[in-house]
Amino acid sequence: MAAWRPHTRASAGCVVALLLLVPVSLDGWGMEVHRQITARAIDGLPADIRPFFEAQRGFIVAHSVDPDLWRVVELRGELGPEEPNHFLDIDGLDEPRPFTNVPRDWTAYVAKHGIDKANRMGRLPWRAEEIYRKLVTALRDTGRGTPAYAPDNARYLVAVLSHYIEDAHQPFHAVLNYDGQLTGQRGIHSRFETELVLRNVSTLKLAPVTIKPITDFKTFMFDTIVESESLVESILVADRKAIVGRELYDDAYFAALLAGARPVLEKRLSDSATGVASAVVAAWIEAGRPALPPSRVRTPGRIGGL
Ligand SMILES: [Zn+2]
Repeated sequence: MAAWRPHTRASAGCVVALLLLVPVSLDGWGMEVHRQITARAIDGLPADIRPFFEAQRGFIVAHSVDPDLWRVVELRGELGPEEPNHFLDIDGLDEPRPFTNVPRDWTAYVAKHGIDKANRMGRLPWRAEEIYRKLVTALRDTGRGTPAYAPDNARYLVAVLSHYIEDAHQPFHAVLNYDGQLTGQRGIHSRFETELVLRNVSTLKLAPVTIKPITDFKTFMFDTIVESESLVESILVADRKAIVGRELYDDAYFAALLAGARPVLEKRLSDSATGVASAVVAAWIEAGRPALPPSRVRTPGRIGGL
């Protein structure tokens, strides 16, 4: 859940300055939550493909935070800077719930809203689909045995894909009021996804990972985002109740926030891991269910070099 990392949308300059002042931010809980969800997802994969990913479990878990680091260094892709790849403010598109009128096709989305608004409201489902397609190709190539680096690519793409899927499960990645700034509740993004988790990690009850069929990946991403949007109000209500009579976000505040937001927090953390594992299985099925060797046997190089 930053997903579950503060979704500040601060300028990269601000972010870099912050990181210089507080280097620990790079290893903050938001990123740790990403890692834990990705680890849960790998552990929940079915037995016929789990060993392939388990063999590089540490690598995949570590790299599940990479897309957030790309924001820091202002990495740009074909569609533009990295930042809008992490959200879709679906309630900012002037469409009625459940947002079935929001075009699922990128070209149609841009045609309807214009490129500036399209980018401002976010590109999360399309970015995730782009990575998903690359994963299907890498898994297919792994089954064919060529190119030799395909297995490494497949594992890395799972790390990156897990990040975007986890972001989509964080309710505040789906709304204009992404930090409570429109309702006088600034900071709720981080309080919900970071400190609330940090304080309660040992008592949160997460459902086991289950593999659910995903027949169309982009539809899955949109469904996830639409559900995220529907959960925001309950968190805002819990925040408003928790702060009544208090000046500070203290222990009592967080206990009250947990009382109100626990069901949503546990559900989204659980659904996140299930979503990642289900997407990996869906990509593997779409790739033709290739055999995935637990570890790649490298072809020895020619003795004596070229
Ligand atoms: Zn992110």
